[in-house]
Formats: sequence, structure tokens, C-alpha cells
Amino acid sequence: MNLTFGPVPSRRFGLSLGLDLSPDKKRCNYDCLYCELAAAKPVDTIDDPLPADRFIDALKEALKDHPETEVITLTANGEPTLYPYLHELIQKINTLKGERKSLILSNGSTLHDPAVRSALAQLDMVKFSFDCGTPRCLKRLDRPLRTLEPATLARHIQTFRQIFQGQLVLEILLVAGINDKPEEIAALNTLLKNLGADRIDLGTVDRPPAYPVTPLDYHALHQIAAMFDADLPVHIVSRRTIQSQPARFDEAQILDTLAKRPLTMEDMQTLFDQQSLQTFHQLLSADRIAKKEVMGLTFYGTAFSRQKSKKTGQNP
Ligand code: SF4
Repeated sequence: MNLTFGPVPSRRFGLSLGLDLSPDKKRCNYDCLYCELAAAKPVDTIDDPLPADRFIDALKEALKDHPETEVITLTANGEPTLYPYLHELIQKINTLKGERKSLILSNGSTLHDPAVRSALAQLDMVKFSFDCGTPRCLKRLDRPLRTLEPATLARHIQTFRQIFQGQLVLEILLVAGINDKPEEIAALNTLLKNLGADRIDLGTVDRPPAYPVTPLDYHALHQIAAMFDADLPVHIVSRRTIQSQPARFDEAQILDTLAKRPLTMEDMQTLFDQQSLQTFHQLLSADRIAKKEVMGLTFYGTAFSRQKSKKTGQNP
């Protein structure tokens, strides 16, 4: 039974070695329509968990083979916070990880439990799913085992944020016809405002899903990204970006786009044609656009360029 996998290069987090806390079968308390694992009845426990030392031994072996690993990622065939020895496991990872970062990929649904919150607070990075702003959407899309409301989820993330010093990423996975409607985005926007996320990743269905659902194209993702408040650190992550047709943006349109939503170079190479990219570089050279590093990604925008000029006086 393989307890580790990778390392795999992750543009979002770095070269990542995974620890699979439910290695033999899927165990999740959600049954998301878009899940890339096969559909399975939701459960809220890992019934026959392996001891933490089994994972630590496997991790030590994997790190010997892959010393270049940058991130140790806790994940599962399902939801990793169902693993009952999480606190012990993370403590032991922290004693051997050195300069590497630790990360968990979770749906965030168990944060009501103080033991889960204090275990996760020992990590360097956490990524929680946050797909829906309304109870109806959560029930229809993520299909939790027990009734859960987005507002409750948000409250628990807020409580966790108060004790968590690391980097918090939220991920919204958009599915056509379910959570892409303006009223759903408005509800999400309201809930996300107070969660203190370092980054909000906006994606869509990229891999074969458990149930038949439809992804959004890049332009739809871009339009939705622009509906969120400009000070929310929303970032489009879908691999479907390559299916988009670059378009012509003049100077005013580029500045307007970046004022509403900072973009990465990859975003712009997807959205902008060659001439628009040249215009972008001219604006960058003229300091009318600035750069900002957020968790390993470089964003270009205008809002933080004004903040920088206020703080440092270096920019006009
Ligand atoms: S929370 Fe993750 S593992 Fe669980 S069903 Fe949803 S996508 Fe799959």
C-alpha cells in the first residue's frame, strides 16, 4: 500500500510530496459532484486508521529518495481531517521537515472540532474548499453527510484564522449551472470578506468528475473573478485556461482589468494577444502597473501599486 505519492510539481504550492491518510479507499464526509475520485457514500470516520508512525516511516523513506521536495502535503482518498491521529502526525512531520513547508488539502467541514483546529494550526499552509455561498448550493454540489451551511463553515474558518499564523488558501470550484450564478457569487463574496484568506483560488472541473457536471471556460471564470470585491485575493487556477482565445485590450482596458483584478503573467498570456502584452509591458515599465508576490505567485495590478507609492514614496 503506497502511503506517499510524488513529488509532483504544483504551480500553486511548490514541489509537493503527498501523504495519503486514507490509502486503501475513499473516505470523505462530502460526495461532491465534481470529485475526481469515484463517487462513494459519505462517511465521517476513517474506520481502520494506520498509526501515525507508519506515515512518518514512509515519509522518511520518500524524503531520502526525493530530498528536493519543497512541500509535504497531507491529503487523502477523501477528507484528511477525518484521520484521528492528525495532531501527533503533524507534530512529527514538523520535527523532520526542516525548511520544507507543510500543507493540508481539506474541505474544511471538521473545523467545528477544536482538536482539528489546533492540529491544523501547526501547519505552514492550509487549503480549504469553499464552493458555495448558499445552503442550497452546498447541499446540491458538495452533498455533505450532515447538514452544513456556508455561513457556519465561514464562522469556523474565522475561528481557525485567529489561531493560525500560516498561509490560508480557499478554493472555489465552479460548476456550470450550479454555483456560477450572480446571486451565488454575491453570497460567496459576502462570506469571504472576513475570512483573512491569503489567496482565493478559482477553478473549474479539470479532471473527469464523479458525476456528469459541466466546467466553465476561461472567459466565464474571468468574468466571475471580476464580480468579487477587488481587495479579495482571487486568482484563477483552472488548467482550462489554454482553451481560451487571446483578445485585443487597449491601454485603458488593461488598466481597468488590472484595477478590478490583479492577474498573473499566465492569466495575461491567456487573455491578451501579442500587441496587448506589449502594451502591458510598456505600462509596467512606466510604473503604471506594479508586481506583488503572493505565496509564490506574482500578480500584476494597479490597486497595490497605489498602496506601495503611498507607503514608500518610490512610485509616482
Ligand atoms: S471533499 Fe474532496 S474528496 Fe471529498 S467528495 Fe469533495 S472533492 Fe471528493
